[in-house]
Amino acid sequence: MHPTKIIINKEQFTNNLISLKTHVGMDRKLCLPVKANAYGHGLVQTAKIAESFVDYLAVACLDEGIALKKNGIKKPVLVFGSFDNEQISDLIKFNLEITVTSLDKAKALEVYCRTSDTICRVHVKFDSGMNRVGALDSEIKELIEYVAKNPVLQLIGVYSHLASSDSPDNELTHQQINKFKEIAKLAKKLKPDVICHLANSGGVAYYPESWFDMVRPGIISYGYYPSKAQHGHIIKVRPCLSLHSRIMHIKKLPEGLGVSYSHRFTTAQESNIATLAIGYGDGFRRCLSNRGQEVIINGKKYPIVGNICMDMLMVNLGNDSANVGDDVLLIGTQSNEMNIPLESISEKLGTIDYEVLVGFTNRVVREYA
Ligand SMILES: *Cc1c(COP(=O)(O)O)cnc(C)c1O
Repeated sequence: MHPTKIIINKEQFTNNLISLKTHVGMDRKLCLPVKANAYGHGLVQTAKIAESFVDYLAVACLDEGIALKKNGIKKPVLVFGSFDNEQISDLIKFNLEITVTSLDKAKALEVYCRTSDTICRVHVKFDSGMNRVGALDSEIKELIEYVAKNPVLQLIGVYSHLASSDSPDNELTHQQINKFKEIAKLAKKLKPDVICHLANSGGVAYYPESWFDMVRPGIISYGYYPSKAQHGHIIKVRPCLSLHSRIMHIKKLPEGLGVSYSHRFTTAQESNIATLAIGYGDGFRRCLSNRGQEVIINGKKYPIVGNICMDMLMVNLGNDSANVGDDVLLIGTQSNEMNIPLESISEKLGTIDYEVLVGFTNRVVREYA
C-alpha cells in the first residue's frame, strides 16, 4: 500500500456534524455536500460515516451521485450541478434529486418522464445574486409554478446559493437573503412542504436568517471556516483530516551540495536529508518547494527543501537523525503545540483551503480511524 495516506478522524467529523445540527436547530434539515471526493475526504466512506447524522447528501454531478447510490446510501442525494439530456435517464434510475435551472431543463425532464412513464424529484434553482446558474428574478415564478403544477415533476425543493457569505454583515448576502425570502414564500403557497434552502458554510456561521428549512454547509462540516479572516469561530468544529507519509531514504550530505531538480536548495553545512514518499503526484503541490513549509517527524518540525518532485520530496533534518520508515505528519495536529495547519499550505499557495483539500489525488490512501 502507498505509504502516503490521509487519515480521517471519524469521531471529530461526526462531532462537527452534531455541532452544526445543534447550531441550526434540530428541526432544520442538514445537507452535507460530499462533492469533489467529499472535499478530499473520500466520497463514499465519508457519506457512509455521515449518513446517520444528516438528512441529505449533495454532490456536484451525476457520477458522484451514482457512486453513492451504488454503494448503498439511502438518504436523499441532491445533485447541485445542471444536467445534459443524456444524463436524465440515470439521474432518475438512481433516484437522485435533480436541480432544475431553467424552464428548458424542466421541459426536457418532463418529456423524458412522460415518454418513460416515470416521475422525478426536482429542486428548482433560483439565481439570487451569484449570477452563475439558476432562474433569474424575471423567470423564477413561472419556473416554480411550472414544476409545482406538473404531474411528472415533483417539486421537492427551491434553493439558491450565496456568493459572499464568508464574512459577517455583507451587503450582497443580505440582499440575497431578502430576495430568497420572497421566493420561498411564493413556493410555500404552491406547496407548503417544499424544502427551501440557501445557506452554505458562511450562511450557517454568520447569517441565521439564511437557514430556512435546510442548510448545506460544506467546508465547515470538515472543520474549516470558509475564510481565513478571524470573525470569531462560533461553531465548535475542528479539522478531521491529517496527511501522513513515511521516510523512504536518509542520506548525510556534506556542505555545498544541491538537492533535487535544478538544485534550488544547497546544503549550508553537513546535513541529514530525508526523502519522503509524497510529491505533487499525490497533490502535494510543487509551488510549496523551498517555501519553508514544515513537516513533523518524531515530534519535531523540519523544513521541506529543494524542488518537490512528482513522487518524492526532501526534508532537511540538519544534525538530527531519524530512521527509514519513520512516520511524517504533513498536515494535522500531533499535540497542542505541534501541528501543521492546512492554512499554512493554502496561504503559501495563495489559494483557499477548499482547493488544497480537493487536490489530493486517488493515490493517497484514505483511512478512517
Ligand atoms: C459547494 C456548495 C455548498 C457548500 O459550500 P461551502 O462553502 O463548502 O459551505 C453549498 N451549496 C452549493 C450549491 C454548493 O455548490
